Parts: sequence; structure tokens; C-alpha cells
Amino acid sequence: MDTILVLLHAETDGSLAKPGREALGAAKSLQAAVEGSKLVVGLVGEEVQPAANAVASCGADRFLGVSGTAFGQSRYATDTLAAEAIGREAGATLIIAPGTSRWCRALSGVAHRLGGRADTHVTAISATEGVLSVTRWYYRQRMEAAIQRTHRPWLMLIDPGCVAPWEGAAGTASVQTVAVELPAANLRTTVSGLQAPPADAQTIRPDAALLFVAGAGWTKVQPDGKAHVPEAADLILGFLRKTKASLGGSKSLVDLSGEGQAVLPFMTHLNQVGQTGATPRHPKGLATCCHGEEPHVVGWRFVNERRAVNLDPNCGWARGKADVLYVADAFTVMAKVNALLSEKPPG
Ligand SMILES: Cc1cc2nc3c(=O)[nH]c(=O)nc-3n(C[C@H](O)[C@H](O)[C@H](O)COP(=O)(O)OP(=O)(O)OC[C@H]3O[C@@H](n4cnc5c(N)ncnc54)[C@H](O)[C@@H]3O)c2cc1C
Repeated sequence: MDTILVLLHAETDGSLAKPGREALGAAKSLQAAVEGSKLVVGLVGEEVQPAANAVASCGADRFLGVSGTAFGQSRYATDTLAAEAIGREAGATLIIAPGTSRWCRALSGVAHRLGGRADTHVTAISATEGVLSVTRWYYRQRMEAAIQRTHRPWLMLIDPGCVAPWEGAAGTASVQTVAVELPAANLRTTVSGLQAPPADAQTIRPDAALLFVAGAGWTKVQPDGKAHVPEAADLILGFLRKTKASLGGSKSLVDLSGEGQAVLPFMTHLNQVGQTGATPRHPKGLATCCHGEEPHVVGWRFVNERRAVNLDPNCGWARGKADVLYVADAFTVMAKVNALLSEKPPG
């Protein structure tokens, strides 16, 4: 009989982030598909009770927790100890965890300690007639593989954004504390702080409904014989401010910024979408002044509805890569779109 452990970490404020709820959603579906299986929720954090309470009604058979100041920060040496202890206490055969940076760093090591196997970047888990399989993508999302394993325990890290998050009422969970011995050597590493751009300068928004992609065309000489980079920056930032869309860029554009040229200063390599960039997940995407070449478009794999604005009716988007192509000047289109958004009442 399988015991499914969903391994979660609390945020610094004690809450549970969306990827954790998604992992729980996946674990619940798996429990329904694997006859007679038990569900255990394992939590690690400085404080785990608020996160456990948030998912109290999920129907878990047990809640296990490792808590304390040492477990508040993301640190391999303490995270592996905590996750291993929970895995052993649960007697877990199947371990599902969100593919957060914290767990991605620690859980392969935990699989080794538990004598198990780990698969990262899992996008779906299914169980048909007792045969369990996970899917993940290879070669920059060009090939999808279905993987089956008989080895247990099997750890599966689910990429955020792939599974519907578990939703349910909060309550009071009875959390069993799992004791972990902490050798001093495991506390040598400390997180001294976090560096992040101020919230209003943050252009990458994984939860946004829309991905807005800017291409190198924004910096190119326009039909009047001049480049209009400051106007491009105003139009793009204006649109982002109004819509709270996430900002992506083509490689050509982010490379220009990296080379220190006077181009869109808010565009960094982190914004790059594509084969050598990110594969974001958003319901909709709008590409502007971007040609839609294959190494770029491969990063749009998980964007459901794709639209593009390009002056060139023969661009890559026109060749089947977009659902809708507007053959138009993006400067004119975005100015009009921003004007219409300004007329819209807020909210
Ligand atoms: C191994 C490899 C990996 C790569 N990985 C990536 C990757 O991860 N991501 C990526 O993006 N690229 C990647 N590339 C590069 C990719 O092939 C393209 O060169 C790049 O995406 C082109 O960027 P672009 O469309 O912004 O620029 P361009 O090709 O210069 O196209 C600019 C477009 O803007 C349009 N335009 C200009 N002015 C306007 C206007 N006023 N209104 C509307 N349209 C306008 C033009 O018609 C043109 O189509 C990779 C290449 C290789 C070889």
C-alpha cells in the first residue's frame, strides 16, 4: 500500500505559497487514483502550524512538521535533514514536492539519503490501472517524455504552474512534531539577506494572466529613418503598469541591453524567453516587434493563446506560430491600446 507524502515548506511569514498548494492538488489526485493509499502532509519552516492550518481540511491522514529558527531559511544542510526525517517518519513510498528553488536544491540529496530516486521538472502525474507515470519535457520543451519507475521511494518535484492548486477551507490541523538532531556543522551556512529589485521594478510576474514580449524591433530604425527607443520604453512600461503583465524579451533584445547600449534598461537576460531563455506559463501572450523565430518561440510552449504584432506579414508568427498576427506598427498599436486602457475604469 502506498503512502503519499506531500512535502511542503512554509514561507517566512508562515504561509503556504501557491506551488505548495499545487503539489497538494497533485498529491490529492494521485491519492484518488492509487487505491488504498494514505496521504501525509509534511511541513518544514520556522513555524509550520499556520501553513498546516491553511490545508487542514485536505483529508490528510497525518500532518508531520519540522520547525524552529534553523528551518526558517533555505539551507541545504538543514532542509535535507528535515525532509529526510519527515520521509522516514511517514514511511513514504511516493513523495510529491513543489519544484521551488528551495526544494530543487535539497531534494535530490534527500532521495539519495532515503535510498530513493528523484525526478525534477515534472509537469503531470498519472496512475492508470495501477501504473504510475510522470511527464516532463526535454530539449527545451521540444520533446515530452513519460517516465515510469518501480523503485521506491520516488520523489517528484512538480514545476510550478502545471497543476491546479488545492483549494479548501482552513481549520486547525494536528501536527506531529518530528524531532531532528542538528549538528553544529549543519548550521555553518547562513542567509545574510535577499537581493531583489523593488516591487515596482519587478517585471517578471509568473502569475500574470498575460505575457508581453518585446523584440529587437523596438530598437530598430523605423519608417521615418530614426530609432525611437525612449518612446518604446514609455509604451512598454506604460502597458505593463496598466495591465500588470509579465515582461519577456527576445534574445536579440536582451543581448543589446547586456552589451550596455542605450536600449531598454529594464530588460535583462532574466526576461529572455526561448531555447536559451525561460519557458513561462501564462494563459495569453502578446509578442511585439519580435520575429517569432523557432529558438524564441520554443519558449512559448506553455502559453495558451499567442498573438503578435509585426510589420512583416511574412514573419515567423505568420508562419503558424501565432493564433493571431496583427500586421501593423507596434508603436501605433501599443499607443492606442494604452490610450484605451487609460479610459477603462480601474479594476
Ligand atoms: C542556439 C540558439 C539559441 C537561441 N535562443 C534564443 C532564445 O532563447 N530566445 C530568443 O528570443 N532567441 C533565441 N535565439 C535567437 C533567435 O533565433 C532570433 O535571432 C531572435 O529571437 C530574434 O529576435 P527578434 O525577433 O527580437 O529580432 P529580429 O529578428 O531583429 O526581428 C525584429 C522584428 O521586429 C519587427 N519590427 C520592427 N519594427 C517594428 C514595428 N514598428 N512594429 C512591428 N514590428 C516591427 C521586424 O519586422 C522584425 O520581424 C537563439 C538562436 C540560436 C542560434
